[in-house]
Amino acid sequence: MLSAIQIAIDGYSSTGKSTLAKALAKALGFLYVDSGAMYRAVTLYLIRHNITVERVEDVLDEIEVDFDDAHRIRLNGEVVDQDIREMEVSELVSEVAKVAAVRRKLVEQQQRFKQSVVMDGRDIGTVVFPSASLKLFMTASPEVRAQRRYDELIQQQKSVTLDQVRSNLKMRDYEDEHRAVDPLKKADDAYLLDNSSLSPDEQLQWVLDILRDKLAITA
Ligand code: C5P
Repeated sequence: MLSAIQIAIDGYSSTGKSTLAKALAKALGFLYVDSGAMYRAVTLYLIRHNITVERVEDVLDEIEVDFDDAHRIRLNGEVVDQDIREMEVSELVSEVAKVAAVRRKLVEQQQRFKQSVVMDGRDIGTVVFPSASLKLFMTASPEVRAQRRYDELIQQQKSVTLDQVRSNLKMRDYEDEHRAVDPLKKADDAYLLDNSSLSPDEQLQWVLDILRDKLAITA
């Protein structure tokens, strides 16, 4: 049997990681896993139960995060794919993601996926799958990222301003890059993709070309 292939996509907030990861997984017939959704689901639990981040370790055993058959994130069995995108969650998630016990629990769960997978996040190429077949690190200009995220939220009828989105992205990037445990950083062997002026189709083609030329993997 051929061994499973792992593709790791890391990078800054709102750089289009999940759009590319989903398209790539679809093209290759791989599973797509949004690791950020898992951190967001843990955060949502704390908010709903009025529990401070300092106490998260005490309640970790009560929190079960998984994906349903349609790949939607579930928190203790309830599909929460909409609720985890609320600004309240975005404001707190990077604090929660700093906690070593939270990371340990979620990283272990992420490493249990044994099939071929495209996973996006902040530490996939550095911690979760350090031997991934292909690693990408995505970035884009702060203005482009804020506008993209703002448009997405407005489309989902969320009430938010461009300024709020801009400062949330800045704060999360800072927290993610400067935390002590598993900070966001480009793996040495990751390909850097600045997609400020690339369409989703152009990005997908760029990755498919690398897969074909470097790894002889064709979609
Ligand atoms: O990917 P997304 O923006 O939804 O992730 C939300 C937050 O979860 C990030 O800002 C980061 O703090 C945390 N995260 C993480 N490690 C991952 C994925 C997400 O720390 N692998």
